Amino acid sequence: MPRTLAYAAPAAGKPLVPFSLDRREPGPHDVDLDVRYCGVCHSDIHQARDEWTGATFPMVPGHEIVGTVRRVGAAVTRFKAGDLVGVGCLVDSCRTCTPCRRDTEQFCEAGPAFTYNGTEMDRVTPTFGGYSARVVVAERFVLRMPAGIAPEAAAPLLCAGITTYSPLRQWGCKPGDRVGVVGLGGLGHMAVKFAAAMGAEVTVFSTSRAKEADARRLGATDFVETRDPAVFATLPKRYDLVLDTVSAPHDYNLHLATLRPHGTMIVDGAPPTPTPVSAFGLIMGNRRLAGSLIGGLRETQEMLDFCGTHHIASDVEVIPIQAINTAYERMLRGDVRYRFVIDLATLAT
Ligand code: NAP
Ligand code: ZN
Ligand code: ZN
Repeated sequence: MPRTLAYAAPAAGKPLVPFSLDRREPGPHDVDLDVRYCGVCHSDIHQARDEWTGATFPMVPGHEIVGTVRRVGAAVTRFKAGDLVGVGCLVDSCRTCTPCRRDTEQFCEAGPAFTYNGTEMDRVTPTFGGYSARVVVAERFVLRMPAGIAPEAAAPLLCAGITTYSPLRQWGCKPGDRVGVVGLGGLGHMAVKFAAAMGAEVTVFSTSRAKEADARRLGATDFVETRDPAVFATLPKRYDLVLDTVSAPHDYNLHLATLRPHGTMIVDGAPPTPTPVSAFGLIMGNRRLAGSLIGGLRETQEMLDFCGTHHIASDVEVIPIQAINTAYERMLRGDVRYRFVIDLATLAT
């Protein structure tokens, strides 16, 4: 069995430390890859600190994985040694239920196998993520990376990318739409790029005035600093879509109030505690409040191909694995421009 170096959280809220684990020997349908880069998602922090409860430890986080194929099983047809490939939030599902057959494996009725802090479909074997040197994944859950995008800048597409692309597609984002993006972090900066590429007019709602110039460079035409909630009283009700990517509890009602009649607010961020929503904020204008969970494999490949065509990648700060705990602290302060990506070559140093 391939022995793999990694970094793991030994218990909830504890700093990540060096760790090693055994990957399974690749079966006929498996791809064995050397991880080159892995993005750092805020979900890694929520889970390593058990903020969503039910986490299992030791935990090797990481679900924005880009790597080079080392070897493939005898039945693998889509990949060969040397290919640059990606793995996102899912590593398996039942493959037969209605959501799986409809390419929405994230809603597998049996519960999908999440890349880490979960189990394989045997419901016993724990899954360990991409803060590691190697992963072994079923071919069906491996993605082709677009040509022409540096692998480190492509890694965040595997979660931050699909999680923002999917709701914009689902809610029909189109030229001329007005889209508000709440929170300019890993997800938020990808949402700005995608909405602008789809022809929308984008406004960033941010607590950080210092991000205004970046917001405009990323494709926004407008910027609202939200630190003082009084600003909302001055805003017209004009947005077709509002994509909320904020990781911490905040008032959804303020953002609902910026929607035009029949407009939709999509909750993408996953704060650990609930937020009260006013009935009148929804009734007055037939507004809609929706959620969105990552995306299925087919749509993730579509998003990667869209990024190849439109030259869309993530703005990243590459870090050595040894800086992971500092990176978490910086993300909690909103101090990331706009995704930390771990260079796994540093694992062996
Ligand atoms: P991130 O890079 O840390 O960005 C979050 C941003 O939210 C920050 O940069 C900040 O932007 C804003 N923010 C933070 N605290 C805030 C507060 N108290 N009030 C208002 N704004 C605040 O995180 P991320 O990786 O993009 O992830 C964002 C959230 O999405 C997390 O909860 C994550 O778990 C979740 N997520 C969900 C899915 C899904 O399938 N739905 C998938 C991946 C991640 P400003 O500085 O601009 O205010
Ligand atoms: Zn994620
Ligand atoms: Zn299923």
